[in-house]
Amino acid sequence: MGAVYVSEHPLLQHKLALLRDIRTEPKKFRELVREMSMLIGYEATRDLRLEQRTVTSPMGECQGWSLAEKVGLVPILRAGLGMLDGLWEMMPSAEVWHIGLYRDEQTLQPVQYYSNLPVSPTAQVCLVLDPMLATGGSAVATVDILKTWGAGRIKFLGLIGAPEGVSRLRRMHPDVDVHLAAIDRGLNEAGYIVPGLGDAGHRLFGTG
Ligand code: URA
Repeated sequence: MGAVYVSEHPLLQHKLALLRDIRTEPKKFRELVREMSMLIGYEATRDLRLEQRTVTSPMGECQGWSLAEKVGLVPILRAGLGMLDGLWEMMPSAEVWHIGLYRDEQTLQPVQYYSNLPVSPTAQVCLVLDPMLATGGSAVATVDILKTWGAGRIKFLGLIGAPEGVSRLRRMHPDVDVHLAAIDRGLNEAGYIVPGLGDAGHRLFGTG
């Protein structure tokens, strides 16, 4: 059974306020998303399995550990890309699989337009990356895709969630852990998180 983790780490909370600030420019915004992703990722990976190994230091042999599980990073395009670099730097041997989804304006349902998953799963743990867990539509669709593909353990890593999105993801995929820095008040009529931070993709890429 998965769980929802909202980190109260002071560094994360300090950076979150800067991230929300309307005056934060894209360059600073990107840095903050990157740093916050590393902090969220640090907490989300605390249960990765280890295996023992012998290591030789300049002073002699000792026992050490190495990761026994392969990690797949799955950024949901496009805002999820902002979370990728920091996590990849911490886990350089992770594989990266991009998933592209857009919201159909008529049905409001996510439609997949891109996926580069290999034929069969090559990692034991998949970390789905999207800074905003708003309606939960893209997150649920991505986890659906990963499960159909045969992925084992799946975790969702974001920065801000809306209660609606968190509930939907929990209802549809109760086994998926959800890691966030905040759960905000709710969604407005356009599906934006309030107070949130606006459009994460626009703020990352300087578009909007
Ligand atoms: N996506 C965003 O970028 N921002 C929101 O508030 C909701 C979805």
